[in-house]
Amino acid sequence: MKYIIVTGGVMSGLGKGITTASVGRNLKNRGHNVTAIKIDPYINIDAGTMSPFQHGEVYVLKDGGEVDLDLGNYERFLDTELTRDHNLTTGKIYQSVISKERRGEYLGKTVQIIPHITNEIKDRIRKVSAKSGADICLIEVGGTVGDIESMPFLEAVRQMHREEAEEDIAFIHVTLVTLDAQKDQKTKPTQHSVKELRELGLYPDVIVARCKEPLLDDTRSKISLFCDVPVEAVISAHDSDDIYEVPLLMENQGLTEYLMSKLNLSTTSMDDSWEKMVDRMHTAKTEIKVAVVGKYTHLEDSYISISESLKHAAIECGCCLKADWVNSEKFDEDPNAVKMLDDYDGLLIPGGFGERGVEGKILAIRYARENNIPFLGLCLGMQLSVVEFARDVVGLDGANSTEFDENTPYPVIDILPEQEDVVDMGATMRLGDYEAVLREGSLAEKIYGSLSIVERHRHRYEVNPNFVERIENKGMIFSGKNKNRMEIIEIPEHRFFFASQFHPEFRSRPGNPSPPFKAFMDSMREGKE
Ligand code: GLN
Repeated sequence: MKYIIVTGGVMSGLGKGITTASVGRNLKNRGHNVTAIKIDPYINIDAGTMSPFQHGEVYVLKDGGEVDLDLGNYERFLDTELTRDHNLTTGKIYQSVISKERRGEYLGKTVQIIPHITNEIKDRIRKVSAKSGADICLIEVGGTVGDIESMPFLEAVRQMHREEAEEDIAFIHVTLVTLDAQKDQKTKPTQHSVKELRELGLYPDVIVARCKEPLLDDTRSKISLFCDVPVEAVISAHDSDDIYEVPLLMENQGLTEYLMSKLNLSTTSMDDSWEKMVDRMHTAKTEIKVAVVGKYTHLEDSYISISESLKHAAIECGCCLKADWVNSEKFDEDPNAVKMLDDYDGLLIPGGFGERGVEGKILAIRYARENNIPFLGLCLGMQLSVVEFARDVVGLDGANSTEFDENTPYPVIDILPEQEDVVDMGATMRLGDYEAVLREGSLAEKIYGSLSIVERHRHRYEVNPNFVERIENKGMIFSGKNKNRMEIIEIPEHRFFFASQFHPEFRSRPGNPSPPFKAFMDSMREGKE
């Protein structure tokens, strides 16, 4: 196994995740089988309990793991499927060391950070990477070098450096080059952060320097001299228009070749599909405007998989996408404001939890349904489209989800009593991959080109089967099911009205968009022709 460790300095939010994913993609393009592990030094066991306000989207894996959004970037860039074990947290490590201690597995020894915690970290890294069947494993250490929380992880990878052959492990350090008032590129923060790394016994092979502008030769030489890496191992990660350009930017500076020679790897085949996908992105013409009406709209990171999925679909349809994130509370306050949807080609209602802004989302859905505006609903977006239809078309006044009104006379969305197939992992949610069987001749079948699909889930509530017949009689059909669980709704009379209980955004890939997103985009584009 070859390991590439990615650390970060100076400050957080420099794009270590994208760097890791890009390096991985470039190695995959050369015929290698690549996997990735994200280390999050927080004490939470996983991201399931974390607020999207604070931490961005909770990404859901096929096995139901609720993980850091960087794993979404890995899956998209590497076109792979990871498991919850690919996200290590301090919480997980301590939990397992403490339960081993309780079982007496440490044979009376004093249990300490070194070696017990660091051994647990190394064991997990080695097991997860071996199990994935990859030949290269990237390990991104979250946080910034110097943080107390990340110390045990940095110590563990330092030990790995000692234990692995020199040609089996490489270190990349991501830092920031700032610009002063005269726009001169300043390398001092980078120098300090590399110094800090060295004090921990870690020596970077490559420095990826984030900068607003491309690094000047002079800056490169300075970093090379002060940080003791060859000039060709100083990579300029300047701002680019789109994250999908980052792999190309790194490839063009020779980073892939450099790493392969350090790791004694050779190119076994060449895949240029990424480059072609980026070319298609640049030549897209038709402008499409979509309104995403949700709750955390000021933080695009909270819906990152949705915006990526829209982008994947736009690239394949030759469209240039403009997505506006609209807070639904705006419609709660002023119902007339929904008319703003006239300026858009389509409406998307994402998933969500909690009560705020729900009525506003329902108003937006009604407007899209009545005005034949293409609509895509995801999870909560589907539940609310059922509530809207039940109230307005079926005539069930006061229909609601029991999540928002426990005493509703018509609980069209409810918690089903028999949740026997729910994987219990602290939460009572239905998480991860489940099958849906599609109705023959439905839009769903047409979109997926299949009668059986698998998609990822994250929800607690569902359509109440007692109302299905009454709703179907009025023209909203349940075209995807998992036994008595409703997975997809559609309105055949409408131009495009499609919603799913699952989250198709977690399986969308650049170059291979999620089918519902692709169909949504196609319908918006056709509306323009
Ligand atoms: N709050 C809803 C539920 O728990 C929807 C969840 C979601 O949109 N992810 O079922």
